[in-house]
Amino acid sequence: MTIVPEFVERIPQIIEEGKIYISTSVNTAIHLCPCGCKTEIVTPIDPSEWYFTYNGETISLYPSVGVWGAVCKSHYWIKKNQIEWSRTYSKQEIEEVRTQETIENQKYYDYLKSEKNNKKRISWFRRLLKLFDIY
Ligand SMILES: [Zn+2]
Repeated sequence: MTIVPEFVERIPQIIEEGKIYISTSVNTAIHLCPCGCKTEIVTPIDPSEWYFTYNGETISLYPSVGVWGAVCKSHYWIKKNQIEWSRTYSKQEIEEVRTQETIENQKYYDYLKSEKNNKKRISWFRRLLKLFDIY
């Protein structure tokens, strides 16, 4: 099964099957669940969420996509414009993945927060140096 990338400025109103719309202005990709259930799959492009690779022809999306919220519970990879079905996870495994994702997101946000604090600390320190004409 093929999925073709379409780079867009804005996410369109109507999402066509077999296409993945990618907007780098809002850092989001969207496509319909390839099982045919028409669930809209939104994958934010973000260090803590998904990233894609594009070689000028084909797109790959990482990590895999798990449609845990829909009835189909589809789980697949998008690799070089191809849908690669992964096995369906059990309810328990889905819970584990979700917990892991929450932990990782938390770690990432903590990291961002500490980065911000570091920057603040540096600028505060620089200002102090400037004040004493050292810097
Ligand atoms: Zn589906």
